[in-house]
Amino acid sequence: MTQRIAFAGFNLESVTAVPQVVDSEAFERVCVRGAELTARFRGTNTVPGGCLKVCEAEGAELVPLFHTLLGALGPASDEAVAQFTQEILDGIENAGPLDGVILFLHGACWAAGYEDVERSVIDAVRARAPSLPIAVALDYHGNIDSQTLRGADIAVAYRHSPHIDMGETGERVTRALLRLLREGRRPGLAVARPGIVIPSIMSATALEPLATIMAEARAVEAAGDCDISVMAGFSYADSTNTGMSVICLDWDGQAAAEAKAKAHAGRLHGARHAIAAAIPIMTADEALSDLERRPAQGRPIVLLEHADRMNDSTHLLRALLDRDVGRVNVPFLLDPETAARAHAAGAGAEIAVALAGRTAPETGGPVEATARVIWSGPKSFTVSGRYQRGSFVDLGLTALLQIGRIRVSVVSHFAFAVDGDPFLIFGERPEDYDVILLRSKTHFRDFYEPLADRILVVDTPDLGPADVRLIPYRQLDTAAAYPWRNDGAPTP
Ligand SMILES: [Zn+2]
Repeated sequence: MTQRIAFAGFNLESVTAVPQVVDSEAFERVCVRGAELTARFRGTNTVPGGCLKVCEAEGAELVPLFHTLLGALGPASDEAVAQFTQEILDGIENAGPLDGVILFLHGACWAAGYEDVERSVIDAVRARAPSLPIAVALDYHGNIDSQTLRGADIAVAYRHSPHIDMGETGERVTRALLRLLREGRRPGLAVARPGIVIPSIMSATALEPLATIMAEARAVEAAGDCDISVMAGFSYADSTNTGMSVICLDWDGQAAAEAKAKAHAGRLHGARHAIAAAIPIMTADEALSDLERRPAQGRPIVLLEHADRMNDSTHLLRALLDRDVGRVNVPFLLDPETAARAHAAGAGAEIAVALAGRTAPETGGPVEATARVIWSGPKSFTVSGRYQRGSFVDLGLTALLQIGRIRVSVVSHFAFAVDGDPFLIFGERPEDYDVILLRSKTHFRDFYEPLADRILVVDTPDLGPADVRLIPYRQLDTAAAYPWRNDGAPTP
């Protein structure tokens, strides 16, 4: 018998302090539905791509409702959460007979009117369809607790950051759901929390001691019949369940799931100081003096302005304008106003610009400069790097600007600059630059670690600090649940 499984993806990582609220219109801009979803994602390294792959191989039918994924921005509007939740419920209602549903959620979507957005979505589906098996795929940076998943039968999260395993995660969640349907039994599902918040910059899974803890989870899986998701959480979304967590899905039952989740959470707690200080963080001054040591030919230095949350921070760009550190590239700076002005002026024109830095006071304010317009126009592309390979990205109106020896691409829609695409799409190569200014946290490592002469991680006074003690939490109870605060932990 062919299983029919509905799929819905509603995915946003929210920085609570970002003033710009993500409304329904923004989700709608990247939303695909029905047959278009299947056509768009088949064969891609994405969660729906992985779900389709397993369904098609196993003779099951994936019923595509919708998929909208916006990366890392500000809070979602309450209306957007309500609207897309309703669309899932309507989709399930109208899909005909269903055997299960896969929900692809982030885990760190934040909206002012919700205590836990993902819990609310899962609970709404559970209330509408009490006996329909619900399988959830989550981002490794999701903030969850056992209450988040109280309505779910299955839950798994990415195992890698950079998230090179999005497709694999779609495969894992679909295989687990098909197994539940075919064997007619639920696995144990448990969540344990070590009581740790870490900055995103420390969440790369190749860093020690996280890499060892991940390997231990794989060894436990190999010895048993379970799926363990160690989750970094997302410290910049302020909720009661902000922080790391461990999900264990165990076919040997609930007690086994709870014991394994707890054991891994204990392991994380024991390693918390080392996790929070896994890599050195530089001040802007330290990084700028380091830049005086020129890189090897063809091996750019990656300057990482990781505390930027909206791809428009100007702290390091401003500092670079004042000095000659070679050929610099600043990809995918978010500034629709400047993109429009450059396009109006046309290629070859010299214009006065007030670049970026406008989304919040912390982002540094606009940088004033004279820029030459190299190229402008609407731009879109298909991701060639491993992270989200095959996905369609629309940058909107885009302009390439030259300011002295600094080349900046300004875009109208938020987009990740984590691989070679920001160069390839303009017929350029990253190897031709001495310094590349990125704003990624972990995803850049897959492409840039092998390429870069060195990576300088710089803390700027921005919305995503490396020292999580600087985050003004309102909902997270740091005093009660986060003993690292006063236990002599080194400053991350
Ligand atoms: Zn993530």
